[in-house]
Amino acid sequence: MKEFNPFFKKFSKKQERVALVYPNRYVGGITNLGLQRIYFEINSTQKYMAERFYTDVFDGLKSAESASHISSFSTALISLQYEEDVFNAVRILKEGKFRGKTIAGGPCVIQNPFPFAEIFDRLFIGEAENVVEEIIEDRRIEGLMPFSSKRRIAELDLKMKSQIISENAYGKSILIEIGRGCPRGCRFCIVRQIYSPARWRSADEVAEIAEENRGLAEKIAIISPSPTDHPEFRDIVQQLKDMGFSVSPSSLRADRFDEEMAELLGDIRTLTLAPETGSERLREVVNKGISQEDILNAVELAENAERVKLYFMFGLPGERYEDLDAIIRLVEKVRGLGKRVSVSINPLVPKPHTPFQWLPYGGDPGRNVEENINELKRKRKYLISRLRKIAGTDVESIERFAVQTIISRGDGRVGMHLDRKLTFSRIVRSELADFLDFQPLDQEFPWDRLNMGYRKSRLVREFEMAMEIAEVELP
Ligand code: SF4
Repeated sequence: MKEFNPFFKKFSKKQERVALVYPNRYVGGITNLGLQRIYFEINSTQKYMAERFYTDVFDGLKSAESASHISSFSTALISLQYEEDVFNAVRILKEGKFRGKTIAGGPCVIQNPFPFAEIFDRLFIGEAENVVEEIIEDRRIEGLMPFSSKRRIAELDLKMKSQIISENAYGKSILIEIGRGCPRGCRFCIVRQIYSPARWRSADEVAEIAEENRGLAEKIAIISPSPTDHPEFRDIVQQLKDMGFSVSPSSLRADRFDEEMAELLGDIRTLTLAPETGSERLREVVNKGISQEDILNAVELAENAERVKLYFMFGLPGERYEDLDAIIRLVEKVRGLGKRVSVSINPLVPKPHTPFQWLPYGGDPGRNVEENINELKRKRKYLISRLRKIAGTDVESIERFAVQTIISRGDGRVGMHLDRKLTFSRIVRSELADFLDFQPLDQEFPWDRLNMGYRKSRLVREFEMAMEIAEVELP
């Protein structure tokens, strides 16, 4: 781990030590600006000091800054970005004999805190900017369960201008969050639900952050769920380029990529796009809002790109083998444009708060859990055997994503099993397998108790609309 401007706060005995635990690898943790912000806020106080813990730095048991053992900290703030991170968190706390207060937050907690209620002392749903001290001190603020079940929404402010620069997931770069939330309506997407409403940072503020970090890295990674939807996206890129930086967005939407943007972002070596599925019909079901033509246009326009990375899903409602063939044909077409192609495919995890929350894992409400899983396995094999001949292909494991589905859709019963790693063989014949099944429309979900800022009736309408397009009959 190499940090180009490491930050050390000298510990005085009067201060309380807070462990900031990212229960996954350093490269992901340091790319997370939300965590950098929490770190910055705690270390700006007189009363507390924070040090960071990652699974690949001293096994998560000692801090990255001073190799202090986690057992010498009085509070642990744990960020759960991915469902399976909870197993790492539990291991670190157990092996580290941590006896202090534990508080968990992050997207997995926001989407459904209930499986984690027995494991951590407190759960925080929402964005923690400017209230980190209140969270540590257990004050009755919005978002801190059990006092409040209302998701906290923060403003994008400019309090943290400088950041720790490292070899992050985007290479050695300055990260600038230009927006949070997403104005689009993809029906499978949890991000638009748990970070709504879409908020943007102004071009001037982006330039101010870039200026503050000038000299630390030559590249700027602009971060947002859908950066090209920022109303000032082009101005931002131009301004940063004029300041002498090279710029790379965290993702691109094919329908926003035109000649002007291709020229602006000229030196893209790898073009990453998310068609999500191969056929126009299924793209309509998921409400992606882009067409095959948009995707092929974008690839053609990215002349300098040697490689195209494509993200797809399978296990969608109404999916037929001809839709899988459409994925294969689309990959062939992109390859035909002279690009090296790599493909990443995940089974759909029907997430809470999305219009797909009622769907079974596997996507077919007419099948039971076992049938859906067997069908997913057949589809996975089908895709791998055809795609591996034409592209680098990575298809996620059906079993792993089943475990993710159970943790994201579960309740306290799931929590009782999280003290050790949940394996597929452990869950599939247990009562937990019910969380993989189709859920009737009048089902009360544990997460219905949270105030997330949307009406369930809207999700019902969108779900029914999607099922109609997919020609799926509900049982
Ligand atoms: S564009 Fe991306 S972030 Fe926005 S709703 Fe769709 S999948 Fe989610």
